[in-house]
Amino acid sequence: MTRIFLSPPDVRGAEREMLLAALDSGWVAPAGPDLDAFEMELATLAGVGHAVALSSGTAALHLALLLAGVGPGDDVLVPSLTFAASAFPVTYVGARPCFVDSEPATWNLSPQLLADELQERRARNALPAAVVVVDLYGQCADYDALLPLCEELDVPVIEDAAEALGATWQGHRAGSFGRTGVLSFNGNKLITTSGGGALVTDDAVAAERARYLATQARQPAVHYEHTDIGFNYRLSNLLAAFGRGQLVELDARIARRHEIREAYGKALDGHDGVELAPLDARGTTNAWLTCITIDAATGVTPEQVRLHLEQSDIESRPLWKPMHAQPVFADSPACLDGTADRLFATGLCLPSGSGMTDDQLELVLTRLAEVLPGA
Ligand SMILES: *Cc1c(COP(=O)(O)O)cnc(C)c1O
Repeated sequence: MTRIFLSPPDVRGAEREMLLAALDSGWVAPAGPDLDAFEMELATLAGVGHAVALSSGTAALHLALLLAGVGPGDDVLVPSLTFAASAFPVTYVGARPCFVDSEPATWNLSPQLLADELQERRARNALPAAVVVVDLYGQCADYDALLPLCEELDVPVIEDAAEALGATWQGHRAGSFGRTGVLSFNGNKLITTSGGGALVTDDAVAAERARYLATQARQPAVHYEHTDIGFNYRLSNLLAAFGRGQLVELDARIARRHEIREAYGKALDGHDGVELAPLDARGTTNAWLTCITIDAATGVTPEQVRLHLEQSDIESRPLWKPMHAQPVFADSPACLDGTADRLFATGLCLPSGSGMTDDQLELVLTRLAEVLPGA
């Protein structure tokens, strides 16, 4: 029996053709027509004018921080409940991540706590140099509430939409909410280039600057003149071709993840104290990962469920361990109300890959029913 993973790469066929066509065309590296086309497709998907394809989402976030002018001594607000890659690049530019808790309604950055934190910082003249907002598990944050708070104080927003390609909020696409947005094509994400990411923005000058910094900051001179520190962050034309192949069936991939989420939702009926992660009706999720919470009062822990699934070679995982609880960030300030800690203690991510077969899903549902409370 093959292991059922949380969110493995889902390769269907178009990738192979497009990858080989790129190879045969001779456009192997660095740039090429697939890279240009992939960027245009990504910009459209993110609802913005420009996309710069990069070697990872982490690289995109690094460049987004540089474009926002974040530097040594600055503070950047980051939600605590996220993957570490939302926070690590803040340290690459010499700044300090300061963590803010989530709201229960979307599990994303709490508008109330952000408002409090910005107020308090304004009073002591210590506004953050940027705010990173994350669209967790494929659901957009509450941009209706978050964006005005940052706009009023002229604090740039960077949208970490690494998990949210194809999601929307109030009809606008994930990736379009900040000055810059970040996408990821890591192997476990909605689409993959085996490793890759993109910076998306409506700002043509910012996109050009990102492209320049990502290709070793080469000034247009035959001898390669450098007036800035650059990076080697570009995605290759071959991988862009693979990514274009992944995009061919993007809608089907999202639809499959929704089916999986709905199947879990049905299976939870009758299990009191077990809930799907909430969805805010103002947005549409891409259903990247289906997550549940199990109330402590049920007497069943997420770890018990995880171990039971593991016996059948089914992978599940706790939610992201909050950044304020990570040893590496022990010295970072945090503005908390207990939400991230509670979600981490009660949450579990279930297998959600768009390539999961009906039989595999059936098996996971059967095993879940055996172990969930109230079974
Ligand atoms: C995956 C992920 C990233 C980083 O993307 P990579 O392409 O793996 O570097 C950043 N933020 C979040 C929230 C992610 O889930």
